[in-house]
Amino acid sequence: MSIDRIFDNMPDRIKVLPRNDRGFPIPYFAAEIDGKRDFRIVSPDKMAHAVRNDLCWVCGVRLGKYKAFVIGPMCGINRTIADPPSHRECAIFSALNCPFLSSPLAKRRASDMPEGAGDAAGFALKRNPGVTGVWLTHSYRPFRPHAGKKGILFSIGEPLEVLWFAAGRPATRDEVQRSVETGLPAIEEIGRVDGEAGVAELERRVAAFQHLLPAGSPTDL
Ligand SMILES: [Zn+2]
Repeated sequence: MSIDRIFDNMPDRIKVLPRNDRGFPIPYFAAEIDGKRDFRIVSPDKMAHAVRNDLCWVCGVRLGKYKAFVIGPMCGINRTIADPPSHRECAIFSALNCPFLSSPLAKRRASDMPEGAGDAAGFALKRNPGVTGVWLTHSYRPFRPHAGKKGILFSIGEPLEVLWFAAGRPATRDEVQRSVETGLPAIEEIGRVDGEAGVAELERRVAAFQHLLPAGSPTDL
């Protein structure tokens, strides 16, 4: 992703963030490791501070009544996510420009990661979903997963709007559907942890999710 291109559509709140040595704005959530902010690692202190003070996860400024979550399709199905919300414009900017979110083939660089860092609570899927959603809602609720890695997850409220992106542009319905088909086996596995009730609930959620896919043509911003 060229730095010139991302500056074309950068929200003002992101323009004022500190920059890394390549000139990219450093998101609020990035932890400091050995004196350097690392985009791959979420700061647990920032997480607590953001949730307590209703701050945007990307720019660190207070949120309004709308909360935008940057999600993969599987998060949209189980309505659970590891990261707290952002402003709508900050979430869209991230979905379009974050190298991991915008490049379907990108893998999170795992070199020099502190042991266990970067893994979300509960059962995080390590795949790159290839498409990224921005889920806009009025409500969410933090909770502690009862199994898997310890930590905090967020249950996201009814969507007012869901926008989908892939490769730095709006995603097509087919792209999102393909991501769902390839990701489902992994969450079916997790659903089985809760037995038959878990599987039935998952089926209900997959059906409900169909209404949140893009229409035939790309989403309109
Ligand atoms: Zn923001």
